[in-house]
Amino acid sequence: MHDDTAQYDVIILGAGAAGLFCALVAGARGRRVLVLEKANKVGKKILMSGGGRCNFTNYFVEPHNFISTNPHFSKSALSRYTQWDFLAMVERHGIDYEERKHGQLFCKNSAADILAMLLCECEKVDVTIATRCEIRSVESIAPAAEENSVTAQRGTAGAPRGRFRVAWVQGGAGDRRIQHQVCQSLVIATGALSIPTLGGSSLGYELATQFSLPLIERRAGLVPFMFSDGMKSLCERLSGVALEVEVTCNGQSFTENLLFTHRGISGPVILQISSYWYPGDMVSVNLLPALDSAQWLLDSKRVQGSILLRTLLHQHLPKALVAELQTLWWPGDAERRLADFSDQRLREVAGLVSAWHLKPSATEGYRTAEVTLGGVDTAAISSRTMECSAHKGLYFIGEVLDVSGHLGGYNFQWAWSSGYSAAQFV
Ligand SMILES: Cc1cc2nc3c(=O)[nH]c(=O)nc-3n(C[C@H](O)[C@H](O)[C@H](O)COP(=O)(O)OP(=O)(O)OC[C@H]3O[C@@H](n4cnc5c(N)ncnc54)[C@H](O)[C@@H]3O)c2cc1C
Repeated sequence: MHDDTAQYDVIILGAGAAGLFCALVAGARGRRVLVLEKANKVGKKILMSGGGRCNFTNYFVEPHNFISTNPHFSKSALSRYTQWDFLAMVERHGIDYEERKHGQLFCKNSAADILAMLLCECEKVDVTIATRCEIRSVESIAPAAEENSVTAQRGTAGAPRGRFRVAWVQGGAGDRRIQHQVCQSLVIATGALSIPTLGGSSLGYELATQFSLPLIERRAGLVPFMFSDGMKSLCERLSGVALEVEVTCNGQSFTENLLFTHRGISGPVILQISSYWYPGDMVSVNLLPALDSAQWLLDSKRVQGSILLRTLLHQHLPKALVAELQTLWWPGDAERRLADFSDQRLREVAGLVSAWHLKPSATEGYRTAEVTLGGVDTAAISSRTMECSAHKGLYFIGEVLDVSGHLGGYNFQWAWSSGYSAAQFV
């Protein structure tokens, strides 16, 4: 027989961004919190994020920065706990930060500052964190018919009885006895599939399935593109070349840097658009987003007619890229003066430069993706509390849900906001 007397009110699975934040807020409300983490260390993604400087939030957080089957779902949590609230905590801890492009906020020193802040707040409110825990089972022990009744939560001796029983083994090769704990509130904060070496895992989806919650199909987001056609070798040759472009796919556009790599294309603009791309889709790249390219080429023909087209393009594009474009688009006219191009031909070239259609063969997948799109269907979750409508006391927060942010600190803000919301009710 197991002892169902709860030593903890709340068990949180996963000590990442959302789990730690939920723990410290619930602890501050006087809840007794146990966090169970699979890895040997907590917050691994926080430490690796933002190139080691953690882009922890953004000055401009709007619901349209989040992708979800239900675009309204994130609104309540994002307004309950805002970027300003998180920033206030960062400032209270004396963490130096800086604003980069598009309102992105990064640590000046190290991402470790953010993790240290979360752990310090957890310690202040006596959160217990156990690492190297392998979850063996999660059971609902609340009598279904009595789930909402207070008396149903009391054992015969009057001690608080749990709604969930979690079993796990801890540690390495040594003592691996199964441990059990019961709790009133169980929070699933196990993150998503991206980067298995940083804790990417499917436990959250398996638990959702166990509790008959619907899932939205998962795919890699914020991830580089690869090619299998002639673009593959072109990218290899241009590896390391970067430039600002506008990229469009499925009605969504972003303007930022594109980077050619030896596998394909990457850089912030590609990571952003990858979240809107489906296999088989084309992406359109405007190599001269700040110009009306047709007008520029025609005006230049009049005032600099004696130069070559590639010489003109060098004014705005890297030489190595222009050499590749020339081979693709005007090989027979390579040595022709601008004045000898017909206006029609220049308009055609301008059309290609401002809408270079590329068909990625795939993304690099979960191995390098910063997020997982899809996840636990928000239709089954309260947007106010993050609790499952059909299972009292069961909460899902962070990336395991079907909510993914754009690049720019939005994914951490979602972790903080959803963690905070759940912590008010656990
Ligand atoms: C390389 C990289 C850089 C990033 N940079 C940024 C950035 O700068 N800004 C930004 O906003 N977002 C960034 N992100 C995205 C951001 O890290 C995630 O969206 C965020 O960490 C999600 O928080 P989470 O708590 O839901 O999941 P996680 O932070 O992934 O935490 C989940 C935790 O659960 C644990 N876990 C998993 N399975 C189990 C299990 N079976 N049992 C127990 N524990 C388990 C994991 O080990 C992990 O500790 C980055 C992502 C990556 C991969």
